[in-house]
Amino acid sequence: ATEYVRKPEWLKIKLNTNEQYTGLKTMMREKKLHTVCEEAKCPNIHECWASRKTATFMILGSICTRACRFCAVQTGLPTELDWEEPERVAESVEQMGLKHVVITAVARDDLKDGGAGVFAETVRAVRRRNPFCSIEVLPSDMNGEYDNLKTLMDAKPDILNHNIETVKRLSAKVRARATYERSLEFLRRAKELNAAIPTKSSIMIGLGETKEEIIETMDDLRGNHVDIMTIGQYLQPTKHHLKVQKYWSPREFEELKAIAMSKGFSHCEAGPLVRSSYHADEQVHAAKAN
Ligand code: SF4
Ligand code: SF4
Repeated sequence: ATEYVRKPEWLKIKLNTNEQYTGLKTMMREKKLHTVCEEAKCPNIHECWASRKTATFMILGSICTRACRFCAVQTGLPTELDWEEPERVAESVEQMGLKHVVITAVARDDLKDGGAGVFAETVRAVRRRNPFCSIEVLPSDMNGEYDNLKTLMDAKPDILNHNIETVKRLSAKVRARATYERSLEFLRRAKELNAAIPTKSSIMIGLGETKEEIIETMDDLRGNHVDIMTIGQYLQPTKHHLKVQKYWSPREFEELKAIAMSKGFSHCEAGPLVRSSYHADEQVHAAKAN
């Protein structure tokens, strides 16, 4: 029999799937757009869409060439490359009245540019229509092709976010194709390309890592000039994904946040429900003030 660690009280939140954003959901379908908020059934959707005016779009299709063991996105060979997608994302950002948008993409290892062209164009299109909306990009490692990273950095996003996802020891087990070292290099190169753009990275905990290993990851990120870090609880999306090994308590998250801040991050968001894009609007300002 499979044993599961029981879900603690602090994670039993009611999903707030009400009126206010049914219209927005319809708009997403009409424009053939995907959001992580909806697809990952993110518990923060109400707070983000309605009050914080932030959302996370997933571009370049909904099929990923990779199969990370924590991620619910479908794996396969994508066929879409839609050069009109950037404009549709820009229109949606406008209709939603967003103040901060996160743009992420499936890993397009099938494309020579890893999707960087459409990605960069999306940043430019969003900015043209929404000059006051801050833009955070969250790419994969783009196969370690730094020309692709340059294409994206040249579009001048407000934050470059690339998730290292987990501690060093667990990387091979948790991630597909991406490696710990390559993610660190990716983040360092982003800084080298444009030191004025804050960099950010996130980990999910509860996969069997120790506190020491989390601290080691903080040091590695700081060692590569990463400005912002987020730490959240891993939740198993389906029974075919990695099992949760531990639910870290809100107190432990508090402590991790304090440690991260002592390491010199300009901002650290840590908590059971924290996602890579959670409270991202505050981080732009924290990083820029630094
Ligand atoms: Fe969307 Fe991120 Fe907010 Fe969740 S935390 S609703 S994924 S923007
Ligand atoms: Fe999911 Fe990203 Fe991994 Fe693709 S590369 S499976 S979208 S985490």
